Amino acid sequence: APSSEPKPIRRLNETLINKIAAGEIIHRPASALKELIENSLDAGSTSIRITVKDGGMKLLQIQDNGCGIRKTDLPILAERFTTSKLSTFSDLARITTYGFRGEALASISHVAHLSVVTKTKLDSCAWRATYSDGALVDQKTGKASEPRPCAGNDGTTITIEDLFYNTPTRLSAFRSISEEYSRILDVITKYAIHNPTVSFACRKGGAASPDISTPSASDTPTTIRLLYGHSIAKELIHHQLSSSKKQRNDDDMDEDEEEEDPESWMAECYFTNANYQAKKMVFLLFINHRLVESARMKRALESVYTGILPKGSSPFVYLSLQIDPRSVDVNVHPTKREVHFLNEETITERIANAMQEQLAKQNHSRTFEYQT
Ligand code: ADP
Ligand code: MG
Repeated sequence: APSSEPKPIRRLNETLINKIAAGEIIHRPASALKELIENSLDAGSTSIRITVKDGGMKLLQIQDNGCGIRKTDLPILAERFTTSKLSTFSDLARITTYGFRGEALASISHVAHLSVVTKTKLDSCAWRATYSDGALVDQKTGKASEPRPCAGNDGTTITIEDLFYNTPTRLSAFRSISEEYSRILDVITKYAIHNPTVSFACRKGGAASPDISTPSASDTPTTIRLLYGHSIAKELIHHQLSSSKKQRNDDDMDEDEEEEDPESWMAECYFTNANYQAKKMVFLLFINHRLVESARMKRALESVYTGILPKGSSPFVYLSLQIDPRSVDVNVHPTKREVHFLNEETITERIANAMQEQLAKQNHSRTFEYQT
């Protein structure tokens, strides 16, 4: 009940502040995994191996063959706002779309047991470090500690155990291990399609065979076939388009300036033709190589198929959109699922129209074939 007496205002302690922030970034095992996959990709990995126990709640492990982390960086690795990807203010606009400005590992260390084994090409052995609440600590004693030398390959293995062990309300909100696992598989499937040259594998701890396994050095259609099946892959249309070049006068605008145009964009799209009919739309959307959601875009692209597909059936659409990072709304917190960007409506419309045109072409040539 509200009291007439004002209560003293107190400063929250730092661990509590960090725990609150962590909860906003790491919602569930799949959101932690998304961060780790992006880190591995940022590190130039060509192989990413994931192991999962209890839908990622008990164990989530990701092993990559990327550049590794320097031993000297390990003490601050899991502190908030420590990153190798951003150093100047002007980098900020570039980086905001990619992630968390050094918050992912920090957040994880506040809501789970985090350990890292890493080796750079220059190291003669790997180093192992365990973290709690942002700090490097000894896993057994919980006291401040140092990285320990160990055996290991080039690259990084990140292990997350007992997610949300210290936030009981969060923990009790999770009901279905199998639902968490299918969300994990969904994230991996999508990143695997967006990164067909990288080999992905995912298995349940103790299982003999992986549930997902893609080769390295593959291409997009092959990976779609592997992960979504032949019925989708054989009906795919591939199309690329970009912002129309502005009318330009060579005297006062050179190539460099044109590249700087914050409104320029590029889209690459794989979508099914009229022969494929699914119950629910499968929509993969990457903006600047980050997996995002946009209900508006999904609706707009699905409506392209009205009149093409029978009522109640839906297409498969994979869209990779690259826009100037300055055009992405930086006021929207990066963890928010929904993204907004400059000229969103125009870009969506151009893509929808292009898809419509391609679908009409195919339909036309089919009719033509039947007639001859
Ligand atoms: P951010 O990705 O925004 O920098 P993170 O908390 O996700 O923040 O990671 C912090 C830093 O840790 C990264 O900038 C990177 O230098 C290093 N790092 C994390 N994961 C890996 C990895 N798999 N391989 C190499 N370096 C990594
Ligand atoms: Mg990151």
